[in-house]
Amino acid sequence: MSDKRVWKRLLGVEQIVIEDWNLENGDDTLVVSVRPSKGACGRCSHCKKRCPYYDQGAGQRRWRGMDLGTMKVFIEARAPRVCCSVHGVVVASVPWARPNSWFTRDFEDQTAWLAVHTSRSAVSELMRVAWRTVTRVVEVVGKEATERVDLLNGLRRIGIDEISYRKGQKYLTVVVDHLSGRLVWMHAGRDSATVGLFFAQLGPERSKALDIVTADGAAWIENAVRDHAPQAVRCLDPFHIVQWATKALDKVRREVWNDLRAAAEPEVAKALKHARWALWKNPEDLTPSQKETLGWIPKLNRSLYRAYLLKEALRGIFQASTVPKALSRLDAWIRWAQRSRLKPFMKLARTLVLYRPRIEATLRTGMNNAIVEARNTQIRLLTRMAHGFRRVEALIGLAMLKLGRLCPPLPGRLQPTTPS
Ligand SMILES: [Zn+2]
Repeated sequence: MSDKRVWKRLLGVEQIVIEDWNLENGDDTLVVSVRPSKGACGRCSHCKKRCPYYDQGAGQRRWRGMDLGTMKVFIEARAPRVCCSVHGVVVASVPWARPNSWFTRDFEDQTAWLAVHTSRSAVSELMRVAWRTVTRVVEVVGKEATERVDLLNGLRRIGIDEISYRKGQKYLTVVVDHLSGRLVWMHAGRDSATVGLFFAQLGPERSKALDIVTADGAAWIENAVRDHAPQAVRCLDPFHIVQWATKALDKVRREVWNDLRAAAEPEVAKALKHARWALWKNPEDLTPSQKETLGWIPKLNRSLYRAYLLKEALRGIFQASTVPKALSRLDAWIRWAQRSRLKPFMKLARTLVLYRPRIEATLRTGMNNAIVEARNTQIRLLTRMAHGFRRVEALIGLAMLKLGRLCPPLPGRLQPTTPS
């Protein structure tokens, strides 16, 4: 193998001519001078079309590449500008980097892969870049991936929802494919106009192909769906029904907690505060110590225990083996909640009476508990991702890479890996 081929393999770049290399910074940094090979020269960085030369641009510049062993690597080359008939005067494309980037494509792909698969601090530390840089890379790689793959093809059953970020001040609208569990669309905002943007991108043909749309019953989603996909059965997302019950349970817990504090039982009140997670979680997910906490609730307070049982029973409706069984469980649940003397649950019972036809449609179309749980997990992941991003575009990029399963493979590997 010739030296040049080894160099190209080491740099992971094709279509280049190696001109020279130098060590800098006490031999800690390797700078490789290159130029694009003839076929890759003088092309527009947006459309890759061959264009006439314009000027020298910024002259010589560097791109950070993947480390070689412990050395930082930079690729150095001239960055002339070309004049594209469509995109105007632009920096000529280089085979090793995305347009307007200071990093090679491999470097960015690896950074994005790490951001999807590992912790924030691990990415920064390993790649030796600031977190700000990671978020920018994630945004660019995510955007490119969503433009390359059309996730809106073949949609039949979707869920539309909102998610809050930045401590609940701002909102995103998300669309999930119920069949694949994939996140397929995400946009800042929560109103009918935002949902309208989704349908505009989906187009009238594919909008007509939708069978089922689930949501939380909010009017801004309902109206947009009715306008753009009137044939779709509108269902109430089981996830939200269970969430309503969890909220009602939390209200009861807070009331009990306040009563206990008023009755000067601070120790019990404190313990109850910690019971919050044990009450919220699905019993099958409880840790041993949470199970113990839960075991002590019936002795502590009967109302709170009743509220817990109501929450779990509502979840159980969506686990019933047949639709008639589920409906009879639902009606029994409504009667039970009405008689429970727990105000939050009596109120929820009234809501469910109102939404009963929607819930029936949900059950008849088979939107079962497995989907509820998968969706629940996705929403939790998204909320966690929302921390530490200054730009919402970066959050969208990371979410699409991770939950849209668009993450690029590690450089030099063929198969993209799916995050679990
Ligand atoms: Zn162009």
